[in-house]
Amino acid sequence: MALELFDSKSQELRAFHPLTPGLVKMYVCGPTVQSAPHLGHLRSALVYDVLNRWLNALEYEVTLVRNVTDIDDKVLVNAGTRDWREFAKEVEATFNDAYANLNITDPTHAPRATEHIDDMIALVEKLIKLGHAYQASDGSANVFFDTASWPNYGELTNQKLENMEGELDASFGRKSPNDFALFKAHKPEEPATAAWKTPWGLARPGWHIECSAMSKHFLGESFDIHGGGLDLRFPHHENELAQSRAAGDNFANFWLHNALVTINGNKMSKSLGNGVSVEDLTKAGSWGAIRYWLLSAQYRSNLDYSESSIRDAQVALDRITGFLKRTTNTKHVEIDYQYLPAEFAKAMDSDLNVPGALAVIHERVRAGNTAFDSNDQEALKLCVEQVKNMVHVLGLTFAYQEPRISEELTNQVNDLIQERNAAKKAKDFARADQIRLELEQMGVTLKDMKDITMWSFNG
Ligand SMILES: [Zn+2]
Repeated sequence: MALELFDSKSQELRAFHPLTPGLVKMYVCGPTVQSAPHLGHLRSALVYDVLNRWLNALEYEVTLVRNVTDIDDKVLVNAGTRDWREFAKEVEATFNDAYANLNITDPTHAPRATEHIDDMIALVEKLIKLGHAYQASDGSANVFFDTASWPNYGELTNQKLENMEGELDASFGRKSPNDFALFKAHKPEEPATAAWKTPWGLARPGWHIECSAMSKHFLGESFDIHGGGLDLRFPHHENELAQSRAAGDNFANFWLHNALVTINGNKMSKSLGNGVSVEDLTKAGSWGAIRYWLLSAQYRSNLDYSESSIRDAQVALDRITGFLKRTTNTKHVEIDYQYLPAEFAKAMDSDLNVPGALAVIHERVRAGNTAFDSNDQEALKLCVEQVKNMVHVLGLTFAYQEPRISEELTNQVNDLIQERNAAKKAKDFARADQIRLELEQMGVTLKDMKDITMWSFNG
């Protein structure tokens, strides 16, 4: 079976084949850096991290772009009296800290919108030339996308323009309330640093044009996967698609949308006062447990947070950690994907069924514990390798990273075990017992198996 992904544009599962064999180009909408990350941001970043890891396991070379929207109405408002650029960088750092703590692999590129204004201007100039965008009739530097000029407008979310109400204000020189801003004219009350020289006057970019311009800059006119949260599907992604297609670009071959995080069954929102902060999560469990919990629902299902969520995830993760701790006596070595069980691969290939993949890990942990208890060394070795490799694919490497055992200690322990085995062979049981005691004092527990002595460190 090959990888199948649910394409939310065609609303069906499709076999995934990259446009260029062996290479996958993926664009994911990153955060608007207006305030600290919430659960929805973390979940979205994590979904595409797992997809990235699975594509790597399938031996694709992946180019992943995750942008940073660092200019926006809310960035300017929330910066207050401070320099908005400094404020945006600070908020961006809180996102990067959370990503790093969650063991999210860095994307290949993480471009900031403000670093690509020229790309956006070039794209808008092209749209104007092709008759799909226009400068505001009031003579300002506002530039709008002309939705009426693009018959496919609405194709992503399967809507017809004539049925759309158009939520936007028809003023500012807009022809239709459905037309969205590509560039926004500088307002005198906004800082001068938040305006760029454009062919239409001083202006700053609209949100949607950023992603069309940056994806083209890094991935070209067509790429394999566009990802983001379900809340971005309309209007953000619909507008991205319209602009890029109207400019003659093929844009994304697959659209992936991850579902949202709910709190006790309710939609998360600040106004309801049910927002859960990163601090709330870390009080309930480790970062490993938070990652485990965020992975515990398939990405197209809502993920519900309740008081016990992180605690339960910690218990499940500890079961895996406990197994690896009691059975592993070498430092972690290179991952070998040939050890991935077929059921695990099948779950991951089925539109990233991570809950199914986690179930395979726990099944292998149980089998490994049984093998350990019955001294079945061969079965145990296989289980350990399988669990380590699966854990690696899901980025749950927290399970074998703690505690760090130094190379010096590892060598010392291995030397003592060798000496003890030699003593046993020579029937010097007093010396063998003495060494066992010595190792116990070092925090090392031994387990004698048929041909080998396993050890674990509890320090
Ligand atoms: Zn976007």
